[in-house]
Amino acid sequence: MSFLKGLKCRECGRDYPKEALYVCEYCFGSLEASYDYEAIRHVMSRDHIQKGPKSLWRYRELLPIDGEPRAGFYSGMTPLVKADILGRELGVKHLYIKDDSVCHPTWSFKDRVVAVALSRAKELGFDTVACASTGNLANSVAANGAWAGFKRYVFIPANLEQAKVIGTLVYSPNLVAVNGNYDDVNRLCSEIASKYRWGFVNINLRAYYAEGSKTVGFEMAEQLGWRAPDHVIAPAASGSLITKIWKALKEFDKLGLLEAPMKTKVYCAQALGCSPISTAILEGSDVIKPVKPATIAKSLAIGNPADGYYAKDVIHQSGGAAASVTDDEIREGIKLLARTEGIFTETAGGVTVASAKKLIEQGVIPKNETVVITITGNGLKTQEAIQDAVGKPALIEPSLASFEERVMSERGNNRSTAPAPSTIL
Ligand SMILES: *Cc1c(COP(=O)(O)O)cnc(C)c1O
Ligand SMILES: [Zn+2]
Repeated sequence: MSFLKGLKCRECGRDYPKEALYVCEYCFGSLEASYDYEAIRHVMSRDHIQKGPKSLWRYRELLPIDGEPRAGFYSGMTPLVKADILGRELGVKHLYIKDDSVCHPTWSFKDRVVAVALSRAKELGFDTVACASTGNLANSVAANGAWAGFKRYVFIPANLEQAKVIGTLVYSPNLVAVNGNYDDVNRLCSEIASKYRWGFVNINLRAYYAEGSKTVGFEMAEQLGWRAPDHVIAPAASGSLITKIWKALKEFDKLGLLEAPMKTKVYCAQALGCSPISTAILEGSDVIKPVKPATIAKSLAIGNPADGYYAKDVIHQSGGAAASVTDDEIREGIKLLARTEGIFTETAGGVTVASAKKLIEQGVIPKNETVVITITGNGLKTQEAIQDAVGKPALIEPSLASFEERVMSERGNNRSTAPAPSTIL
Protein backbone atom coordinates (compact mmCIF):
# COMPACT_ATOMS: atom_id res chain seq x y z
CA MET A 1 0.00 0.00 0.00
CA SER A 2 1.32 3.43 -0.93
CA PHE A 3 1.00 6.51 1.23
CA LEU A 4 2.87 8.64 -1.28
CA LYS A 5 0.34 10.96 -2.92
CA GLY A 6 2.61 12.78 -5.32
CA LEU A 7 5.06 15.63 -5.56
CA LYS A 8 4.34 19.21 -4.58
CA CYS A 9 6.14 22.46 -5.40
CA ARG A 10 7.70 23.85 -2.25
CA GLU A 11 7.11 27.40 -3.47
CA CYS A 12 3.73 27.63 -5.21
CA GLY A 13 2.17 24.39 -3.94
CA ARG A 14 1.28 23.01 -7.39
CA ASP A 15 0.84 19.24 -7.49
CA TYR A 16 2.87 16.94 -9.74
CA PRO A 17 2.71 13.20 -10.45
CA LYS A 18 5.18 11.01 -8.55
CA GLU A 19 7.71 10.67 -11.36
CA ALA A 20 11.37 11.63 -11.81
CA LEU A 21 10.57 15.34 -11.66
CA TYR A 22 12.30 17.92 -9.54
CA VAL A 23 11.47 21.46 -10.61
CA CYS A 24 8.15 23.25 -10.89
CA GLU A 25 7.39 24.25 -14.49
CA TYR A 26 5.69 27.43 -13.33
CA CYS A 27 7.96 28.90 -10.66
CA PHE A 28 11.12 26.77 -10.82
CA GLY A 29 10.65 25.86 -7.15
CA SER A 30 11.88 22.42 -6.07
CA LEU A 31 9.44 19.56 -5.61
CA GLU A 32 8.86 17.60 -2.42
CA ALA A 33 7.10 14.30 -1.69
CA SER A 34 3.59 14.62 -0.27
CA TYR A 35 1.83 11.94 1.78
CA ASP A 36 -1.62 10.86 2.84
CA TYR A 37 -1.11 11.54 6.55
CA GLU A 38 -4.67 10.48 7.45
CA ALA A 39 -4.03 7.00 6.07
CA ILE A 40 -0.60 6.87 7.72
CA ARG A 41 -2.10 7.79 11.08
CA HIS A 42 -4.24 4.63 10.96
CA VAL A 43 -1.24 2.36 10.42
CA MET A 44 1.77 3.94 12.05
CA SER A 45 1.88 3.45 15.80
CA ARG A 46 4.93 3.16 18.07
CA ASP A 47 4.22 -0.54 18.35
CA HIS A 48 4.01 -0.93 14.57
CA ILE A 49 7.35 0.82 14.15
CA GLN A 50 9.04 -1.24 16.86
CA LYS A 51 7.88 -4.45 15.22
CA GLY A 52 9.39 -3.35 11.92
CA PRO A 53 12.85 -4.18 10.54
CA LYS A 54 15.98 -3.01 12.36
CA SER A 55 16.74 -0.57 9.54
CA LEU A 56 15.39 2.74 8.30
CA TRP A 57 12.61 0.81 6.55
CA ARG A 58 10.77 0.61 9.89
CA TYR A 59 9.53 4.12 8.94
CA ARG A 60 8.49 2.97 5.49
CA GLU A 61 5.03 4.62 5.62
CA LEU A 62 6.73 8.03 5.82
CA LEU A 63 9.14 7.28 2.98
CA PRO A 64 8.40 7.98 -0.71
CA ILE A 65 7.99 4.54 -2.26
CA ASP A 66 4.90 2.74 -3.56
CA GLY A 67 5.76 -0.90 -2.95
CA GLU A 68 8.26 -2.84 -0.88
CA PRO A 69 11.80 -1.48 -0.28
CA ARG A 70 14.25 -2.59 -2.99
CA ALA A 71 17.62 -1.36 -1.68
CA GLY A 72 19.52 -0.34 1.44
CA PHE A 73 18.28 -3.04 3.81
CA TYR A 74 21.23 -2.43 6.14
CA SER A 75 20.96 1.33 6.39
CA GLY A 76 19.72 3.20 9.42
CA MET A 77 19.13 2.33 13.08
CA THR A 78 22.58 3.58 13.98
CA PRO A 79 23.46 4.08 17.66
CA LEU A 80 22.37 7.07 19.72
CA VAL A 81 25.21 7.26 22.23
CA LYS A 82 24.88 8.95 25.63
CA ALA A 83 28.02 11.06 25.57
CA ASP A 84 28.78 11.61 29.25
CA ILE A 85 32.51 12.25 29.00
CA LEU A 86 32.18 14.79 26.19
CA GLY A 87 29.14 16.20 28.00
CA ARG A 88 31.21 16.74 31.16
CA GLU A 89 33.94 18.39 29.15
CA LEU A 90 31.48 20.77 27.46
CA GLY A 91 29.43 21.25 30.63
CA VAL A 92 26.23 19.78 29.15
CA LYS A 93 24.14 17.38 31.23
CA HIS A 94 22.19 15.42 28.63
CA LEU A 95 24.41 15.10 25.59
CA TYR A 96 23.96 12.45 22.88
CA ILE A 97 25.81 11.53 19.71
CA LYS A 98 23.72 10.24 16.81
CA ASP A 99 26.47 8.12 15.27
CA ASP A 100 25.92 7.63 11.55
CA SER A 101 29.63 6.90 11.05
CA VAL A 102 29.02 3.24 11.87
CA CYS A 103 26.55 0.43 11.05
CA HIS A 104 26.17 1.64 7.47
CA PRO A 105 27.45 -0.16 4.34
CA THR A 106 29.67 2.81 3.42
CA TRP A 107 29.98 4.51 6.83
CA SER A 108 28.07 7.73 6.30
CA PHE A 109 24.50 8.96 6.52
CA LYS A 110 24.37 8.98 2.70
CA ASP A 111 23.44 5.28 2.87
CA ARG A 112 20.05 6.49 4.10
CA VAL A 113 19.24 8.80 1.20
CA VAL A 114 20.61 6.28 -1.29
CA ALA A 115 18.48 3.46 0.16
CA VAL A 116 15.38 5.50 -0.56
CA ALA A 117 16.51 6.90 -3.93
CA LEU A 118 17.47 3.48 -5.31
CA SER A 119 14.25 1.86 -4.14
CA ARG A 120 12.33 4.58 -5.93
CA ALA A 121 14.63 4.32 -9.00
CA LYS A 122 13.61 0.64 -9.31
CA GLU A 123 9.94 1.56 -9.10
CA LEU A 124 10.38 4.22 -11.79
CA GLY A 125 12.08 1.71 -14.09
CA PHE A 126 15.63 3.09 -14.24
CA ASP A 127 18.43 0.65 -15.04
CA THR A 128 21.18 3.24 -14.51
CA VAL A 129 21.71 5.45 -11.48
CA ALA A 130 24.07 8.38 -11.13
CA CYS A 131 25.05 11.18 -8.78
CA ALA A 132 27.08 14.35 -8.30
CA SER A 133 28.99 13.82 -5.09
CA THR A 134 31.27 15.46 -2.54
CA GLY A 135 32.54 11.95 -1.68
CA ASN A 136 30.24 10.00 0.59
CA LEU A 137 27.41 9.89 -1.92
CA ALA A 138 29.86 8.46 -4.47
CA ASN A 139 30.75 5.61 -2.09
CA SER A 140 27.12 4.94 -1.31
CA VAL A 141 25.70 5.00 -4.85
CA ALA A 142 28.57 2.80 -6.06
CA ALA A 143 28.07 0.23 -3.28
CA ASN A 144 24.30 0.13 -2.85
CA GLY A 145 23.86 0.40 -6.61
CA ALA A 146 26.04 -2.68 -7.09
CA TRP A 147 23.93 -4.68 -4.66
CA ALA A 148 20.70 -3.55 -6.31
CA GLY A 149 22.01 -4.38 -9.81
CA PHE A 150 22.19 -0.92 -11.35
CA LYS A 151 24.61 0.46 -13.90
CA ARG A 152 26.28 3.37 -12.11
CA TYR A 153 27.80 6.71 -13.18
CA VAL A 154 29.41 8.63 -10.37
CA PHE A 155 30.75 12.19 -10.74
CA ILE A 156 33.14 13.76 -8.24
CA PRO A 157 35.42 16.80 -8.02
CA ALA A 158 38.95 15.66 -8.96
CA ASN A 159 40.54 16.73 -5.65
CA LEU A 160 38.71 14.33 -3.29
CA GLU A 161 40.34 12.40 -0.44
CA GLN A 162 42.03 9.16 -1.52
CA ALA A 163 39.83 6.93 0.65
CA LYS A 164 36.71 8.36 -0.95
CA VAL A 165 38.08 7.73 -4.44
CA ILE A 166 39.30 4.18 -3.71
CA GLY A 167 36.19 3.57 -1.62
CA THR A 168 34.17 4.27 -4.76
CA LEU A 169 36.35 2.57 -7.39
CA VAL A 170 36.35 -0.72 -5.51
CA TYR A 171 32.67 -1.23 -6.41
CA SER A 172 33.49 -0.81 -10.14
CA PRO A 173 31.12 2.00 -11.11
CA ASN A 174 31.90 4.41 -13.94
CA LEU A 175 33.71 7.00 -11.85
CA VAL A 176 34.25 10.38 -13.46
CA ALA A 177 36.56 12.92 -11.78
CA VAL A 178 35.81 16.44 -12.96
CA ASN A 179 38.40 19.22 -12.99
CA GLY A 180 36.40 21.63 -10.91
CA ASN A 181 34.62 21.95 -7.55
CA TYR A 182 31.34 20.32 -6.54
CA ASP A 183 29.25 23.17 -7.90
CA ASP A 184 30.87 22.64 -11.32
CA VAL A 185 30.20 18.90 -11.07
CA ASN A 186 26.60 19.51 -10.14
CA ARG A 187 26.03 21.92 -13.02
CA LEU A 188 27.50 19.42 -15.47
CA CYS A 189 25.34 16.63 -14.05
CA SER A 190 22.14 18.67 -14.49
CA GLU A 191 23.05 18.94 -18.16
CA ILE A 192 23.78 15.21 -18.45
CA ALA A 193 20.55 14.39 -16.59
CA SER A 194 18.51 16.28 -19.16
CA LYS A 195 20.06 14.25 -21.99
CA TYR A 196 20.35 10.70 -20.62
CA ARG A 197 17.54 8.74 -19.01
CA TRP A 198 19.41 8.00 -15.81
CA GLY A 199 18.23 8.26 -12.25
CA PHE A 200 20.47 10.94 -10.77
CA VAL A 201 19.80 10.36 -7.09
CA ASN A 202 20.38 13.97 -6.06
CA ILE A 203 19.02 15.65 -9.20
CA ASN A 204 15.96 14.16 -10.89
CA LEU A 205 15.34 11.78 -7.95
CA ARG A 206 16.09 14.45 -5.35
CA ALA A 207 12.52 14.70 -4.06
CA TYR A 208 12.72 11.01 -3.07
CA TYR A 209 16.40 10.96 -2.07
CA ALA A 210 16.03 13.88 0.34
CA GLU A 211 13.24 12.17 2.30
CA GLY A 212 15.73 9.49 3.36
CA SER A 213 17.39 12.05 5.66
CA LYS A 214 14.20 12.19 7.73
CA THR A 215 15.10 8.83 9.19
CA VAL A 216 17.91 10.49 11.20
CA GLY A 217 15.24 12.52 12.99
CA PHE A 218 12.82 9.60 13.37
CA GLU A 219 15.53 7.50 15.00
CA MET A 220 16.64 10.26 17.38
CA ALA A 221 13.09 10.58 18.69
CA GLU A 222 12.46 6.83 18.94
CA GLN A 223 15.83 6.23 20.65
CA LEU A 224 15.16 9.00 23.17
CA GLY A 225 12.00 7.15 24.22
CA TRP A 226 9.67 8.89 21.74
CA ARG A 227 10.83 12.35 22.66
CA ALA A 228 12.15 15.01 20.33
CA PRO A 229 15.48 16.39 21.58
CA ASP A 230 15.55 20.02 22.76
CA HIS A 231 18.53 20.85 20.55
CA VAL A 232 19.96 19.19 17.43
CA ILE A 233 23.22 20.27 15.79
CA ALA A 234 23.77 19.02 12.25
CA PRO A 235 26.22 19.82 9.46
CA ALA A 236 25.08 21.37 6.18
CA ALA A 237 26.33 20.82 2.66
CA SER A 238 23.28 21.36 0.43
CA GLY A 239 21.25 22.04 3.59
CA SER A 240 18.90 19.12 2.98
CA LEU A 241 19.71 17.05 6.08
CA ILE A 242 18.91 19.95 8.41
CA THR A 243 15.52 20.59 6.84
CA LYS A 244 14.63 16.90 6.94
CA ILE A 245 15.55 16.28 10.58
CA TRP A 246 13.14 19.09 11.45
CA LYS A 247 10.47 17.73 9.08
CA ALA A 248 10.79 14.27 10.63
CA LEU A 249 10.27 15.49 14.17
CA LYS A 250 7.27 17.56 13.06
CA GLU A 251 5.77 14.54 11.30
CA PHE A 252 6.14 12.37 14.42
CA ASP A 253 4.53 15.16 16.44
CA LYS A 254 1.66 15.51 13.97
CA LEU A 255 1.05 11.74 14.02
CA GLY A 256 0.89 11.71 17.82
CA LEU A 257 3.96 9.50 18.21
CA LEU A 258 5.79 11.74 20.72
CA GLU A 259 5.46 11.82 24.52
CA ALA A 260 5.55 15.61 24.61
CA PRO A 261 5.04 18.36 22.03
CA MET A 262 8.02 18.87 19.76
CA LYS A 263 9.95 22.08 20.45
CA THR A 264 13.32 21.18 18.96
CA LYS A 265 15.76 23.92 18.03
CA VAL A 266 17.98 23.08 15.07
CA TYR A 267 21.54 24.42 14.64
CA CYS A 268 23.55 24.63 11.43
CA ALA A 269 27.25 23.66 11.46
CA GLN A 270 29.54 24.68 8.59
CA ALA A 271 33.23 25.16 7.90
CA LEU A 272 34.37 28.77 7.74
CA GLY A 273 35.93 27.98 4.35
CA CYS A 274 32.46 27.16 2.97
CA SER A 275 29.70 28.62 5.11
CA PRO A 276 27.07 30.21 2.86
CA ILE A 277 24.20 29.06 5.10
CA SER A 278 25.75 29.77 8.51
CA THR A 279 26.97 33.17 7.30
CA ALA A 280 23.50 34.21 6.12
CA ILE A 281 22.05 33.15 9.48
CA LEU A 282 24.78 34.85 11.53
CA GLU A 283 24.46 38.06 9.51
CA GLY A 284 20.66 37.99 9.58
CA SER A 285 20.67 38.14 5.78
CA ASP A 286 17.89 36.83 3.57
CA VAL A 287 20.33 36.03 0.79
CA ILE A 288 22.45 32.90 0.63
CA LYS A 289 25.57 34.20 -1.10
CA PRO A 290 27.40 31.51 -3.11
CA VAL A 291 31.06 31.05 -2.17
CA LYS A 292 34.14 29.29 -3.56
CA PRO A 293 34.88 26.51 -1.06
CA ALA A 294 38.30 26.28 0.63
CA THR A 295 38.16 23.85 3.55
CA ILE A 296 39.37 20.42 4.65
CA ALA A 297 35.69 19.50 5.14
CA LYS A 298 35.29 18.40 1.53
CA SER A 299 32.07 16.47 2.11
CA LEU A 300 30.46 19.79 3.08
CA ALA A 301 32.10 21.86 0.34
CA ILE A 302 29.03 23.05 -1.57
CA GLY A 303 29.36 26.75 -2.34
CA ASN A 304 25.89 27.15 -3.82
CA PRO A 305 23.61 24.99 -1.63
CA ALA A 306 20.38 23.78 -3.28
CA ASP A 307 18.45 23.78 0.01
CA GLY A 308 20.19 26.76 1.58
CA TYR A 309 17.07 28.90 1.93
CA TYR A 310 15.02 26.05 3.38
CA ALA A 311 17.77 25.25 5.88
CA LYS A 312 17.96 28.89 6.93
CA ASP A 313 14.16 28.96 7.34
CA VAL A 314 14.21 25.87 9.54
CA ILE A 315 16.89 27.40 11.79
CA HIS A 316 14.80 30.57 12.13
CA GLN A 317 11.46 28.85 12.62
CA SER A 318 12.85 26.49 15.22
CA GLY A 319 14.63 29.24 17.15
CA GLY A 320 18.05 27.68 16.52
CA ALA A 321 21.30 29.29 15.43
CA ALA A 322 24.44 28.66 13.39
CA ALA A 323 28.19 28.44 13.71
CA SER A 324 31.15 28.18 11.39
CA VAL A 325 34.56 26.86 12.38
CA THR A 326 38.12 27.01 11.07
CA ASP A 327 40.08 24.04 9.74
CA ASP A 328 42.10 23.95 12.99
CA GLU A 329 38.88 23.86 15.00
CA ILE A 330 37.65 21.02 12.75
CA ARG A 331 40.80 18.96 13.53
CA GLU A 332 40.39 19.71 17.24
CA GLY A 333 36.74 18.68 17.01
CA ILE A 334 37.67 15.33 15.45
CA LYS A 335 40.25 14.70 18.19
CA LEU A 336 37.92 15.83 20.97
CA LEU A 337 35.19 13.38 19.96
CA ALA A 338 37.73 10.56 19.58
CA ARG A 339 39.44 11.25 22.92
CA THR A 340 36.19 11.54 24.90
CA GLU A 341 33.75 9.14 23.26
CA GLY A 342 35.93 6.79 21.24
CA ILE A 343 34.29 7.84 17.98
CA PHE A 344 36.49 8.61 14.96
CA THR A 345 34.56 10.90 12.64
CA GLU A 346 35.49 12.53 9.36
CA THR A 347 35.98 16.24 8.79
CA ALA A 348 32.21 16.90 8.61
CA GLY A 349 31.90 15.45 12.12
CA GLY A 350 34.75 17.68 13.23
CA VAL A 351 32.76 20.65 11.94
CA THR A 352 29.71 19.54 13.91
CA VAL A 353 31.53 18.86 17.19
CA ALA A 354 33.49 22.12 16.98
CA SER A 355 30.29 24.04 16.18
CA ALA A 356 28.49 22.42 19.11
CA LYS A 357 31.37 23.35 21.41
CA LYS A 358 31.27 26.93 20.21
CA LEU A 359 27.48 27.28 20.57
CA ILE A 360 27.59 25.80 24.07
CA GLU A 361 30.50 28.03 25.15
CA GLN A 362 28.67 31.05 23.78
CA GLY A 363 25.66 30.13 25.89
CA VAL A 364 23.51 29.81 22.76
CA ILE A 365 22.79 26.16 23.61
CA PRO A 366 21.82 25.80 27.29
CA LYS A 367 23.58 23.29 29.55
CA ASN A 368 20.69 21.44 31.18
CA GLU A 369 18.56 20.37 28.21
CA THR A 370 18.78 17.43 25.81
CA VAL A 371 21.36 18.04 23.07
CA VAL A 372 22.04 15.74 20.11
CA ILE A 373 25.13 16.12 17.94
CA THR A 374 24.66 14.50 14.51
CA ILE A 375 27.81 12.67 13.39
CA THR A 376 27.43 11.92 9.71
CA GLY A 377 30.58 10.16 8.50
CA ASN A 378 33.60 8.01 9.39
CA GLY A 379 37.11 9.29 10.09
CA LEU A 380 38.95 6.55 8.20
CA LYS A 381 37.85 8.27 4.99
CA THR A 382 39.55 11.61 5.65
CA GLN A 383 42.81 10.62 7.32
CA GLU A 384 44.95 13.06 5.37
CA ALA A 385 43.12 15.94 7.06
CA ILE A 386 44.53 15.03 10.47
CA GLN A 387 47.65 13.02 9.78
CA ASP A 388 49.90 15.86 10.93
CA ALA A 389 47.76 16.65 13.97
CA VAL A 390 47.67 13.36 15.86
CA GLY A 391 51.33 12.81 16.75
CA LYS A 392 53.37 9.68 16.07
CA PRO A 393 53.77 6.39 17.94
CA ALA A 394 56.70 5.99 20.30
CA LEU A 395 59.27 4.03 18.30
CA ILE A 396 61.43 1.63 20.34
CA GLU A 397 63.85 -1.26 19.95
CA PRO A 398 62.40 -4.72 20.77
CA SER A 399 63.79 -4.72 24.30
CA LEU A 400 62.44 -4.01 27.76
CA ALA A 401 65.23 -1.51 28.29
CA SER A 402 64.24 0.44 25.22
CA PHE A 403 60.57 0.38 26.25
CA GLU A 404 61.39 1.69 29.70
CA GLU A 405 63.83 4.25 28.41
CA ARG A 406 61.67 5.68 25.65
CA VAL A 407 58.16 5.19 26.99
CA MET A 408 58.15 4.81 30.75
CA SER A 409 60.97 7.15 31.69
CA GLU A 410 60.47 10.80 32.58
CA ARG A 411 61.80 11.72 29.18
CA GLY A 412 59.59 9.41 27.21
CA ASN A 413 56.53 9.45 29.42
CA ASN A 414 53.33 10.50 27.62
CA ARG A 415 55.31 11.47 24.60
CA SER A 416 53.24 9.23 22.36
CA THR A 417 50.50 11.85 22.33
CA ALA A 418 52.78 14.88 22.35
CA PRO A 419 52.54 17.25 19.38
CA ALA A 420 56.30 17.16 18.67
CA PRO A 421 56.89 13.43 18.41
CA SER A 422 60.29 13.56 16.74
CA THR A 423 61.86 13.97 20.19
CA ILE A 424 60.97 10.33 20.97
CA LEU A 425 62.99 8.92 18.16
C1 LIG B 1 26.43 14.98 2.39
C2 LIG B 1 26.92 15.10 3.77
C3 LIG B 1 26.37 16.01 4.70
C4 LIG B 1 25.33 17.08 4.38
O1 LIG B 1 24.33 16.78 3.57
P1 LIG B 1 23.23 17.80 2.99
O2 LIG B 1 21.97 17.08 3.19
O3 LIG B 1 23.57 17.99 1.55
O4 LIG B 1 23.31 19.10 3.76
C5 LIG B 1 26.82 15.98 5.99
N1 LIG B 1 27.80 15.14 6.37
C6 LIG B 1 28.37 14.28 5.53
C7 LIG B 1 29.46 13.40 6.04
C8 LIG B 1 27.95 14.21 4.21
O5 LIG B 1 28.53 13.34 3.38
ZN1 LIG C 1 5.95 26.14 -8.23
